[in-house]
Amino acid sequence: MNPLYFDHSATTPIREEVVEAMQPYFSDMFGNASTIHRFGQTVRQNLEAARKTAADILGADSREIIFTSGGTESDNLALQGTVQAEKNPRSHIITSAIEHAAVLNPCRHLEQLGVTVDYLPVRPDGIVDPQTVEAAIRPDTTIISIMLANNEVGTLQPIREIGEQTRARNIILHTDAVQALGKIPIDVNRLNVDLLSVSGHKIYGPKGTGLLYVRSGTPLAPLFFGGHHEQGMRPGTENVAGIIGLVRAMELAEAEREDFSTATRSLRTLLETGIREKIENVRFNGVSGCRLPNISNISFGDVDGDTLQLVLDSQNIAVATGAACSSGSGNVSHVLTAMGISPELAGSSLRFSLGRLNTEADIRRLLDLLPDMIAALRQ
Ligand code: PLP
Repeated sequence: MNPLYFDHSATTPIREEVVEAMQPYFSDMFGNASTIHRFGQTVRQNLEAARKTAADILGADSREIIFTSGGTESDNLALQGTVQAEKNPRSHIITSAIEHAAVLNPCRHLEQLGVTVDYLPVRPDGIVDPQTVEAAIRPDTTIISIMLANNEVGTLQPIREIGEQTRARNIILHTDAVQALGKIPIDVNRLNVDLLSVSGHKIYGPKGTGLLYVRSGTPLAPLFFGGHHEQGMRPGTENVAGIIGLVRAMELAEAEREDFSTATRSLRTLLETGIREKIENVRFNGVSGCRLPNISNISFGDVDGDTLQLVLDSQNIAVATGAACSSGSGNVSHVLTAMGISPELAGSSLRFSLGRLNTEADIRRLLDLLPDMIAALRQ
């Protein structure tokens, strides 16, 4: 039986077109982009062309793009970089309880250094209420960091509305757009954001690649010190092949965004309708508000999610019980519990995240197997 992969929010397979675009940078185009001879200068030109393409996709200017090693580094740079640039250890951060560990853990680290952090609750629909954000703002609030789309349930957050508040008050707004890129339109000006994180491997690009959009004039200090690369914000010889691959993946994701959304949304409807018809005692999480088209998070009452995941894996079917970064940690999803779901039900949940190569036949095979697996586990 062919393997079935429904874990695209954890990572995606790199696309042929992306590998092709990267290939020359492993051989002929090996020059260091900071050198002045032709080996380096040709690479520099291509690197800057890629930066311009990435900027255009996000509605930004080339000078506002800092290439990084991925979503985690971009989130860390955004949070630690703005607090450090302020040189005020007493600053205040507002974030949400449903952020990825790449935001939550830098916040916890900053708390140890004297920064105060508010982890705002979410409504039962998995969405941060802009009024709660407004009420949490203090005179010393430096940065608000709320994700654009949640990685476990796919809920979309009201960033544009929150951005109206931050703009009016001169507070920096960061959003983690790692899961949103390629699925919903992203324009940094429309969203009113100052900082935005992107990761390559969630969009069929290479792992270990990403970028941080930094609105011109946003105070930011680097995390690393070294050469002048990336305007001194991210020193180190550029990962040119990775950057070229990231940007090619961004171009393809953006060009195919609408088709991707339509296709995955219709497969998800097939999946959710099938599960609703064939299996009792299920709960669909985060479905009442706006959500990404490709994620479905479902609790199967009286079933242990980890066990169900292993049973599916024994049939070569890959799904997730939560974020890849916390799977195996034995922790119940902080996202589902923040939505008011009991730890027991949260522990019985699976995340299905669909991708561009999934087909109707894939969903039907899953729907053929799942009811019996669940019935067996419930016995
Ligand atoms: N932010 C979100 C919302 C994610 O889903 C992930 C990856 O799971 C990350 C950040 C981390 O990105 P990366 O794996 O590129 O470091």
